[in-house]
Amino acid sequence: MEILENIPLAPFTTLGVGGPARHFARARSVEDVLHLFSTAQDSEEVFILGGGSNLLISDAGFNGLVIKLEIGGVGFQNYDDHTLVEVGAGEDWDGSVAACVERDLAGVECLSGIPGTVGGTPVQNVGAYGQEVSESIVSVRCYDRRERKLVELSALECGFAYRTSIFNTDERDRYVVLSVLYRLIRNGPPKIAYKDLQERFDGREPTLAETRAAVIAIRREKSMVIDAADPNSRSAGSFFKNPIVKTSVADLIAEEMEIDRVPHFPADEGKVKIPAAWLIERAGFEKGLVLGNAGISRNHSLAIINRGGASASEIVALKDLIQKTVFDKFGISLQPEPILLGF
Ligand code: NAP
Repeated sequence: MEILENIPLAPFTTLGVGGPARHFARARSVEDVLHLFSTAQDSEEVFILGGGSNLLISDAGFNGLVIKLEIGGVGFQNYDDHTLVEVGAGEDWDGSVAACVERDLAGVECLSGIPGTVGGTPVQNVGAYGQEVSESIVSVRCYDRRERKLVELSALECGFAYRTSIFNTDERDRYVVLSVLYRLIRNGPPKIAYKDLQERFDGREPTLAETRAAVIAIRREKSMVIDAADPNSRSAGSFFKNPIVKTSVADLIAEEMEIDRVPHFPADEGKVKIPAAWLIERAGFEKGLVLGNAGISRNHSLAIINRGGASASEIVALKDLIQKTVFDKFGISLQPEPILLGF
């Protein structure tokens, strides 16, 4: 396996910005991963790159080893009413969803059209339209960098919560996801929980394939499907998490703004989730806003885009401006969703 030097990383990200990796290698098997970690210098930082769809790389790049995880393979094992699907971490997520929907396997249909690789899905417990991967993940096979061994973590051990797991919280950087085992229901009903989706079907229950098509259509309208022909899709998806705040904070904002209510959805006890897009728009940022070569997507105020030739510092300048303005107006600190590498 070749270890390359000074490899530009921008082409490996959907945002398309950032400098080079000092060292770069592709891991196409578990053995490759084991080999790379057994030979990597202890002093060298290692970053695992998946689909690069949730990543912002600094202009200086990354002064360490980037391992691009390309472990492939999809296996289906049928049981009475369900199928276990084991997928290599380097497989394209949406391709895997398509393969499951084609086999009438329910459980991931609402997660159609999401860019990135399978390995990223347990990390942030990817979710959309009321469905999340924690509902179907049975276990995750990993390389444990601390104990230097292969492990299989049960869903419980992964500590899934809203957009989080141990992989992006308590045990950040400890595990390399190698493959994921999902349990999907054969001929199960699609999950039609959100208004956006319900409206498309007018009360009737769609098939899984229809649900997948509808989700992709909704995402495409918002430029949230990566498409070289759509400049508004050159982004890292939602740039900010939807903040979860005390109910009293939402009430106070409504009072100060002299409106009936701030849009919100129930979260943990005594708390609500406010759409970050609403806060950003009400703070004065319009869709299509331009700041140098960075901007806000014309089709979704939560997506910061590279308008062409943007530097990472231009993206960060817009991120900082949005965060500061939202904080000054509402007292809410928006947290970026993408990983920031090399800053
Ligand atoms: P959206 O559908 O406009 O929704 C905006 C916000 O409202 C989200 O926080 C969403 O919660 C919430 N919401 C809407 N309907 C709801 C309902 N019936 N019950 C509870 N909460 C509701 O969001 P969008 O930005 O266009 O994204 C579409 C979907 O993709 C959303 O579900 C979003 O969360 C998801 N997404 C996920 C990731 C990720 O996993 N990292 C990244 C980008 C977008 P939820 O966030 O709980 O859905």
